Formats: sequence, C-alpha cells, structure tokens
Amino acid sequence: MKLNIQDTFNQELPADPIRENTRRQVEEACFSFVKPKSPSGPELIHVSEEMLEAIGLEVDAKDSKNFLDIFSGKKILENTTPFAMCYGGHQFGHWAGQLGDGRAINLAEVVHDDQRWMLQLKGAGETPYSRSADGLAVLRSSIREHLCSEAMFHLGVPTTRSLSLMLTGDEVWRDVMYDGNPAYEKGAVVCRVAPSFIRFGNFQIFASRNDAKNLKILTDYTIKHFFSNINELNVDGYIQFYQEVANRTLDMVIHWQRVGFVHGVMNTDNLSILGLTIDYGPYGWLEGYDHDWTPNTTDKSHRRYRFGNQPGIAFWNLAQLGNALFPMIKEAAPLKAILEKFKKDYQIQNLDMMRSKLGLELSKDGDQKLVEELEKTLMVTEADMTIFFRNLSNFAKDTEIDHNQTFLQPIKDAFYKPEELENEILKSWSSWFVRYKNRLSLEQLSDTERKLKMNKVNPKYVLRNYMAQLAIDKADQRDYSLIEELYQVLKKPYDEQPAFEKWFAKRPEWARHKVGCSMLSCSS
Ligand code: AMP
Ligand code: MG
Repeated sequence: MKLNIQDTFNQELPADPIRENTRRQVEEACFSFVKPKSPSGPELIHVSEEMLEAIGLEVDAKDSKNFLDIFSGKKILENTTPFAMCYGGHQFGHWAGQLGDGRAINLAEVVHDDQRWMLQLKGAGETPYSRSADGLAVLRSSIREHLCSEAMFHLGVPTTRSLSLMLTGDEVWRDVMYDGNPAYEKGAVVCRVAPSFIRFGNFQIFASRNDAKNLKILTDYTIKHFFSNINELNVDGYIQFYQEVANRTLDMVIHWQRVGFVHGVMNTDNLSILGLTIDYGPYGWLEGYDHDWTPNTTDKSHRRYRFGNQPGIAFWNLAQLGNALFPMIKEAAPLKAILEKFKKDYQIQNLDMMRSKLGLELSKDGDQKLVEELEKTLMVTEADMTIFFRNLSNFAKDTEIDHNQTFLQPIKDAFYKPEELENEILKSWSSWFVRYKNRLSLEQLSDTERKLKMNKVNPKYVLRNYMAQLAIDKADQRDYSLIEELYQVLKKPYDEQPAFEKWFAKRPEWARHKVGCSMLSCSS
C-alpha cells in the first residue's frame, strides 16, 4: 500500500522499554509498543472515501486484500511499529490514575498534501493499558463512531475522523446495560484518523507522577508538530500553548451546543489537546431541546455531562490541564487569567453562535435576553431542536402574532405534542415571537437572505439516536445499506436533499425509551 509514512510520536518520544503485552503501570514513557490482535475473519463493512483520499490512497485501494488486512489489524504495515499511548485522566470528576489506550492501537503517521494523519485502530485487542477489559469493541459502538465522526466533520465540528469499519469475525462478551444480562456480540474495528490523538490526560499522567522531564518532552513535541504558530519552548510558549488549547476547546464545545451534540463522557482523558471531538461512546443528539439531557445512563443521577453543562465541564477540564502544565509555567496567575478569559469568551461566542442560529447579523443589547427566553420557551413543551431551528428560517418578519396561531405554522412540526400549544404554553410562544419579530425588524436582511444564512448554521440532518440504532439493527442482520445511506445524507447536513426528507423528522415514539436510542451505557 502506497502510504507516505512519517512517524514522529514513536520516534521522538520516550518508549516503554518493556515489549511484552502485559497490563502494568508504565512510567517515564509516552507509549508502549504493541501489536494488534489478528482477527479471525475480517470483513470490510464501510469506508469513508474522503478519508481514503485524505491519506493518499486511491478509491479502489479499499478493495485490496492489503487494505482488509492492515485496517483490521491482521497485518502490520512495513516499517512501522504500532503502539498504545499512556495517559491518565479525571473520570466523572475524580482522578483515576493511569488509563491509556486500552483498546486503541496507533498504526503509523501518514503525511499527505502537507497534512499529518495518525492512523489508529479501535478495538484491535489488549494493550498494557487494558486494565480489566478485553481491548475489543462491538459492532454497534463502532458503527456509531464511524458514522458520527464523519457526520460531525461535515457539520463543521472539529473532530477525529474515521477511515474504515470492519467486522473482526470474533465475538465479544458485553453487558449492554450493565444489568446482569451479558451476551455475545459481533466484534468490530474502526480505523480512526486525526493529526494526533494526544489528550489532556497525556499531560496529566506525567504531572501526577512529578515527572517534569517527560512532561516537557511531550509538551515540546506537541507544540512543535501541532502548534506551529508557537515559536518558543519556554514559559511564554507554554502559556501561549495553554491559551491555544483553551481557544480550540471553546470553539469545539460551542459547535456542540450549536448542533445539539452531547458527548456523554467528557472525562479529561476524552478531551483532545487539539480541540477535536474524540472518543464517540454514549454520545447523543438532542431531540427535544433540554439542557438537562444526557444520553449516558452511567451519568443518569448526577448528569455531570448533560447538554447544558458541557461548556462548564470544558472549563473544569481546562483547569485540570492548567494544573498539569503548572510545573513548566510555575506561576498560577497567567493560567488563571486564561481560565477567566475562557469564561468571558464563552459568553461572547455563545451569544454570537445563538445569534447566527436566529439569523441575526447585528448585535443588540437585548439579544442575551432573547436567547434566554427562547431556551426557556423551548422547554415548556417538548420541541425538537433540529427541526425548530431549521424551520425557524421560514418565519417571515411581517407575520402577525395573533390568536389564530399562523405565526407558529413554520415551526409546528418541531412539537412532539402540538395539542399542548394552548393557554400558558401558547402565550409563552407568542410572547417570544413578538420579541423575535421586533428584533428582526432591526436587521437589514430580507426573509430570503436570512433563510439562506440560517440554513448554513442550522443543520437539517443530524445523526439522531434512533437513526444510528436502525443502522445497527440492520447491520446485525448483515444488511449494511443503511450505514451507507446515513453516511451519504450526513455528508451534506445543511442541504435540503429532498430524497432524504424522511430523516428530517421527529424521533418516532417507539424510540423514546429504547436502549440505544435514548439510553446508552459506556459498554461498547
Ligand atoms: P472511555 O471512558 O471509553 O474513554 O474509556 C476509559 C478508559 O478505558 C480508556 O483508557 C479506554 O482505553 C479503556 N477502555 C474502554 N473500553 C475498553 C475495553 N473494552 N478494553 C480495554 N480498555 C478499554
Ligand atoms: Mg476514552
């Protein structure tokens, strides 16, 4: 296979000297060499042709035996030395010590069109970091990761990508809902792709072990390869690095809020140092707009990672990263200043983002209030976030806000219980629309121009939880057609695509409480 391999991580950073694949604490090293597990019967299910091209392969490369072998873990690319990374992390707010790539194996780095890509198999067997688990992944979670990575990219959200989805031919023992009903499921491997998979936790693990030397080595490596605008590897450079990570993390989380994505497990080991959405586990998409919603059943009681808490958790995680970088900066003030700035920047950028969703170009004093009132009103009776914002662009600014409810017509489809639109609930909506209409009258854009702009930030198609589940159910029966269909529709989430109109619909009632649709565990 003609890949331009240019490894740096496993060339420039300290390796674990032990080559045996045994579970252990790995100190003074950024990674351990480890080989993927050979699958017994690999089968290609789906490929992202865009990612094939991105890494420099021809479209027909996917049909080769070599492709199947390499991206299922059966064969190792020539002149490469796969490895698993060592990192730690705070899980649900508590320091968990060493975690590491328990089921991710980095194959190699490829440079194509001046872009560096790390190729990483997820679910290719145990590593020194597998702790008590098996290093494997099941088909359902692999479909979810593959489809969502690509969908997020096309939504304009910073994310890791996915090249391929394979069955391994092996079975994996899982208790889906952690309720004492384990069963065998089909094993799968995804090849994830990103410039780098370094996480906040890679820095935290060295800081937690007072290993200042390796903390600096890793930071210098990260800056050199991925933050090329930072020229100095000294205190000033490290402060700038922290600021950059804060900026990128903020940008990512604002995009999540814009499209209604809930990550579900924002532990510090699941935050990319490059500000990419990483580790698609029990994530979900808002259907009814609800700040308190989380798809993750493991987090059901505390809802730490609920939709409305994501910006706050990004802040908390950045504070942990600040603690980890402190030994190199040795002063708290600049780190604190960056965190304070994050809070202010969030307020500004979040409001700008919401303005864009509402089709407002100017900034006016009452805008924050307009947004807050909308968020409250969206919760008085279940309103589908995606449909509401998409269809709001059909609201004409000269609409009368009157008793016969014509003003609600454009967005009526968003309501799960339209019969509730009366009395107080109707009043809330009409008063919000009065506000909105007044605010629109200050804008220059025509209705048509506003609609065009709004449709570029309010997607028509997102990977609703039940859509992924339908694709999973079919794939279980060896029918992969829905994976391809969803992959195609989600490539153009802002386009009308009338042929795919059926995916622009509220979640069906059967999916409201179905496992995999509204409830997901970390079991994957
Ligand atoms: P997560 O919360 O899914 O990001 O996982 C937390 C840690 O558990 C990471 O270090 C993962 O690599 C590890 N992990 C999760 N699932 C498995 C598995 N099936 N086998 C080995 N390690 C796992
Ligand atoms: Mg993880």
